[in-house]
Amino acid sequence: MEKVPVIIHIDMDAFFASVEERDDPSLQGKPIGVTGSNTRTVLVTASYAARKYGVKTGMNIPQAKSVCPDIILVTAKHEKYTAICSQMVKMLDNFSPLVEVFSIDEFFVDATGLSKIFGPPIEMAKRIKKRIKDETGLPASVGIAPNKLMAKLASDMAKPDGIKHIKPDEIDNTLADLPVEELCGIGRKTKSTLNRMGIKSCGELAKVEITSLVDRFGVVGEKLYFMARGIDNSSVTSFRHEVKEKSMGHSLTLPRDIRDRKELSRHLLRLSDMVGTRLRRQDLIGDTISITLRYKSFKTFTRQKKIEIPTSNTKIIFEVATNILNGLKLQEPIRLIGVSVQNLKKSFPVLSLFKEDEKLRRLDKAKDAINTIFGSDTIQFASITDLDKHEKVISPSWRPQGARKY
Ligand SMILES: [Mg+2]
Repeated sequence: MEKVPVIIHIDMDAFFASVEERDDPSLQGKPIGVTGSNTRTVLVTASYAARKYGVKTGMNIPQAKSVCPDIILVTAKHEKYTAICSQMVKMLDNFSPLVEVFSIDEFFVDATGLSKIFGPPIEMAKRIKKRIKDETGLPASVGIAPNKLMAKLASDMAKPDGIKHIKPDEIDNTLADLPVEELCGIGRKTKSTLNRMGIKSCGELAKVEITSLVDRFGVVGEKLYFMARGIDNSSVTSFRHEVKEKSMGHSLTLPRDIRDRKELSRHLLRLSDMVGTRLRRQDLIGDTISITLRYKSFKTFTRQKKIEIPTSNTKIIFEVATNILNGLKLQEPIRLIGVSVQNLKKSFPVLSLFKEDEKLRRLDKAKDAINTIFGSDTIQFASITDLDKHEKVISPSWRPQGARKY
């Protein structure tokens, strides 16, 4: 008999807000909004008490106050949250050899074949939930299903503080009337495109031919076809796994040949930021930074520099890249410029042996968070905001927003 996979998804409830409530009893049960540690103008999360008033993640402070005048604002304490994340990974490691850190407060556990040790999946989920409560004092919701996509949906349905098991024969019913955007991976853009096509629910999506989806969405169309059926073959990637990519880079053919170092340096900044953003999105860091230059005559060369502490920080990548550029004697105007970071490794909190400059890391984090919510150029370095929009570079791994994770 073929073994049915059992995937457990754990999602901490209103994570940052719950941590703040745990550590300051006077906040318990009150409407709390947690603001970014660097840019204190946007809520990164809100407690359930605040959500009852309609407070939502991504709201700015005046918006939050207008719906909930009594909201208590607390600044995010990132070190504390990452420490709890590490604690969670260590704890979950006792349950299964396959634990994936999906985000700072979400984890996948492959529980396939583990019923001999922990009993039926639901019993295992209860044990995990109890361990989380005992060890961290925090509430979490747990979803169980035959794959990651459905397990994540199950934990959403279990919120707050619950457990939900979606068995294989329950998938069709669960999805029939479910709005498409409830599936992880279907973002705002995809949702509105689907809605415009007259598709609101996963059930409706499942009725569309794969060819029309591929015509409309490209590769993503194929994913949508499977998602609508609750099919997801992606595996739980252990936090110990080696990084597949060895390097990450971006290059740009300049709109005209450039010799001026200042101008080149502005392009380096934009490219460094693009590389840094992608590295951070995938929790990768690297210790070798290189720049590639192509002369007007098409002569192309690459120069690299190794740094002591692996990084994904825009400012550090940019500084090293600029350093390399400044050390070069340019013989001709430049027609193409590129930046890349090599020798990549995962930077999961639990494995983080290197201490990056905390302030820089938090700045990146805040910028990434805001750009994720409001679009990729909402916050940009002042010195490159005037670069023409058409000079923007499309990354080779570019994907529509919601489709990144599946
Ligand atoms: Mg959460």
